[in-house]
Amino acid sequence: MTTAEFHGLGSTIVYGPGPSRRYGITLGVNLSPPDLKACRYSCVYCQLGHSRGLPEPSAYPTAAVVGEALAAAHGAAVDAIVLCGNGEPTLHPDFPAVVDVLRRQRDRHFAGRPIVCLTSGSELGRPDVVEALRRLDECSVKLDAGRCSTLRRIALAEGPVCVDWMTWRIRALGDAVIQSCFFDGPVTNATDDEVDAWIEAVRVAEPRRVDVFTIDRPPPTQRLSPLSPERLARVAARLREAVSVPVAVAA
Ligand code: SF4
Repeated sequence: MTTAEFHGLGSTIVYGPGPSRRYGITLGVNLSPPDLKACRYSCVYCQLGHSRGLPEPSAYPTAAVVGEALAAAHGAAVDAIVLCGNGEPTLHPDFPAVVDVLRRQRDRHFAGRPIVCLTSGSELGRPDVVEALRRLDECSVKLDAGRCSTLRRIALAEGPVCVDWMTWRIRALGDAVIQSCFFDGPVTNATDDEVDAWIEAVRVAEPRRVDVFTIDRPPPTQRLSPLSPERLARVAARLREAVSVPVAVAA
């Protein structure tokens, strides 16, 4: 999925190494087809542009090709291997096999480095995806709001988006990280009421950690603005007061 770690569509499977705001120096792994966005959402702050349907399964790289691409990056000095890229990694049609091959190549060439998946959580209803995510070292699920109406306005999803569905799936996944991006604009999740609702959703989801951050550059199509460091720190402080969970602010 998504995120601040990747800006614009990429054409390669493995990219970097480069600095990320949350995981140090990372190698990125793009499981989506080259130069195509693959995501069920079309978030207002997405740096990949609008989503226009999902690619055909045959457009995705095979698990073997993904493994070869990671092996070819051997020797790179990295802190973590992060699955994100051109959209949602768990939409890969053979995601469990990809996870297994990446773990094998990691053990061979990047021993001790964690494999992290950044995900929108859209596929958390699939048992095979959930089992595969549990075999990774960290799964960071996006949860940007605690109200369904706000979540829908942020995600601009074609299908239903429901906070209860997300929080209980995150909780069932177990030991997940929540990543939440806060911003102002015609759509905002940073008012006191919105933050209260989000805190309640985090409480239900029982994550191992919460990463809060803001947009680091204006998205191409929306008039959104980042939160100041002080406001972002206040959001984190309110969560820490309400819920016993480690909170990291990604500057
Ligand atoms: S989940 Fe949102 S931010 Fe991430 S790729 Fe999809 S549309 Fe973009």
